[in-house]
Amino acid sequence: EFYNASANAQSLRRLNIENHLRHGLARNEFSLAYQPQVDLASGRIIGAEALLRWMPAIGPIGPDEFIPIAENSGLIVEIGEWVMRTACRDFMAAPLHERKLLLAINLSARQFKKTTLVDSVRGILAETGFPAERLELEITESMLVEHFEKTVKQMQELKNLGIRLAIDDFGTGFSSLSYLKRFPMDTLKIDKSFVADIYDNQNDACIVRSIIGLGHGLNLKVQAEGVETAQQLELLQLHQCDRGQGYFFHKPLPIDEFRRLFV
Ligand code: C2E
Ligand code: CA
Ligand code: CA
Ligand code: CA
Repeated sequence: EFYNASANAQSLRRLNIENHLRHGLARNEFSLAYQPQVDLASGRIIGAEALLRWMPAIGPIGPDEFIPIAENSGLIVEIGEWVMRTACRDFMAAPLHERKLLLAINLSARQFKKTTLVDSVRGILAETGFPAERLELEITESMLVEHFEKTVKQMQELKNLGIRLAIDDFGTGFSSLSYLKRFPMDTLKIDKSFVADIYDNQNDACIVRSIIGLGHGLNLKVQAEGVETAQQLELLQLHQCDRGQGYFFHKPLPIDEFRRLFV
């Protein structure tokens, strides 16, 4: 009975969140936080990942809770377009535009499966004037495993627009490594769960070192996420990881604060 009651409360909460999500765009409840991405050799900010934030009337709800609900209900398609359009616009305004920053955006499987994705990306680039070669779309490993042929075709079309593609959360899925070379990727993002203990866990250090070697062998840029300490940074630099992102450098920042880093 206890289980039933809590399962029930859980599904009611999901339903409630979904109902609020439906009005989120119209009510202007979404915003973006930008987390700087740092070139580990020079220490310079070379770009940022746009991370979605939601403040509905019922109080703030984190992306780990509302994004799966937005995905299941299909609402992520419209919200995802808003994310891309808003971020491209933000990056076209001074002083960001002059810095030629890379803009990383997360894509959901649901968006990726839509045949209109390529048109929608093309449309947003045309509308905002944001240069395709500075847009990097992040997709997770599990999205690559499903519908192999269709996925490769979709990715090839995105590449034809001139944009960059990144594998997000690398190492957490279970794709075979030989898979990797068959996708037109540019960047490999090492999941933060491996970075967390690289300093005191030999196995994690070994995994991270291997992923960096693998990425470089395949001619990819390798980026570490969840960099929180100077020791982690030191090890990543030692192993020639290209880019880093994490609280050690910067938390995800509201656009105004992000902009202030450049003035
Ligand atoms: P992600 O793509 O793996 O994003 C990285 C997450 O790690 C972010 O969580 C970020 O705030 C957090 N993070 C950054 N630096 C550190 C650090 O040093 N230590 C730790 N422990 N965490 C760090 P956030 O913002 O809560 O986003 C969670 C997830 O929600 C994202 O994971 C992504 O999968 C999804 N998400 C966020 N925005 C969007 C979006 O616009 N569209 C889609 N489809 N998914 C999104
Ligand atoms: Ca990401
Ligand atoms: Ca990630
Ligand atoms: Ca993630």
